Amino acid sequence: MALIVQKYGGSSVADVEAMKRVARRVVETHQAGHQVVVVVSAMGDTTDDLLDTAAQITQHAPEREMDILLSAGERISMSLLSMAVNELGVQAQAFTGAQAGIKTTSHYGRAQIVGLVTERIARTVKDGHVAIVAGFQGISEDDDVTTLGRGGSDTTAVALAAALHADVCEIYTDVDGLFSADPRIVPKAHRLRRVTQEETLELAAHGAKILHLRAVEFARRYKVPLHVRSSFSEKNGTWIFDGPANPELKGLVPSAALVDPQEDPMEQPIISGIAHDRSQDKITVTNLPNTPGMAARVFSICAEVGANVDMIVQNVPVSDSTRANVTFTLPEGDAQRTLNALEAARDEIGFDQLRYNPNIGKLSLVGAGMRTNPGVSAKLFEALSDAGINIEMISTSEIRISVVTRLDDLDRAVQAVHTAFGLDATESEAVVYGGTGR
Ligand code: ASP
Ligand code: MG
Repeated sequence: MALIVQKYGGSSVADVEAMKRVARRVVETHQAGHQVVVVVSAMGDTTDDLLDTAAQITQHAPEREMDILLSAGERISMSLLSMAVNELGVQAQAFTGAQAGIKTTSHYGRAQIVGLVTERIARTVKDGHVAIVAGFQGISEDDDVTTLGRGGSDTTAVALAAALHADVCEIYTDVDGLFSADPRIVPKAHRLRRVTQEETLELAAHGAKILHLRAVEFARRYKVPLHVRSSFSEKNGTWIFDGPANPELKGLVPSAALVDPQEDPMEQPIISGIAHDRSQDKITVTNLPNTPGMAARVFSICAEVGANVDMIVQNVPVSDSTRANVTFTLPEGDAQRTLNALEAARDEIGFDQLRYNPNIGKLSLVGAGMRTNPGVSAKLFEALSDAGINIEMISTSEIRISVVTRLDDLDRAVQAVHTAFGLDATESEAVVYGGTGR
């Protein structure tokens, strides 16, 4: 008997039929003899619809009120799903984030989980019932409802799985797992059988939308095995864990995924996948005095306005070594604030101009095998050059290479690189079952 946390995303519970299908799956898992905790997202586009409705009333909604509003989406789905499970003859109880003991900071809209008091959920499953928890929300020290940021239900699920010492956290979505690239762009993307937590972290941090970044961080820190799969099919999805599988999982993990890529490097592909990100913008500060402390000045201004700077490139013109240009990327939502703050400090810092380009895209090639295989970057640059795509910026980690291109070129770049690294599947395998992509 295993303790399984199952998380169902919005497209898996988008309407009554989908909700009933999820209920059947929950009941099957329960009847197979497992303890089941379910975390559920709001139905379909509910969260977006709630945001739209609020926007018709005010552009300045108090953050506290906004969080109470948004938490309602998940409360609707948790209670309906609980009814659907009860209808199938298995006892289930629904819990809000607060009732499930999810304690958070009071940063409305982006609260972080600081503790979990899981007695009530643990007791529910011990009594043989199914516990259904509203994702994406918790409660602050001041007893106010908070939300965890868009996509936050993943984090609720993994945090609960960690606190309950669950054997696996299953993330149900509208595709069959993690793919070597977004199947919406690369129809020949192949499903990954197993990836390391480190690779998943890089993919999620650089635009792969399938898992909330905080959820992957939790899974890594607390060693929670993840299984990303579709609620629309019975297929095995992608397993994400490091080291050997724990004994409770033996019956659940297919033998192919039991091979530990770190133990058996032959089994480890050099490249696991390609992530892409359209949501970054680029700012260039021109003719900055090339003296100590200038970069510190620019980036402390960015930090003061809470801008999450990603890539940075500095170049010094050969003709005038007393001046430098600094270019960096940041999330599009942070750009305007940052431009305003830098503009205000222009005379004090002594730069010429700010250049702003929102039309950029970022491609990231990720693979733990890069550590031991030289030549990956050469091959990447060659593939882009063959496709006639210009690289504007480059950054790397031990297991990732990212490049910035023009936004218009991004899809083509992803396709070209996918083919160049031999990642195309012979038969197209990627099915997108649901979701409006909103
Ligand atoms: N319903 C929330 C959202 O749309 C949280 C989630 O789905 O994970 O972002
Ligand atoms: Mg999601």
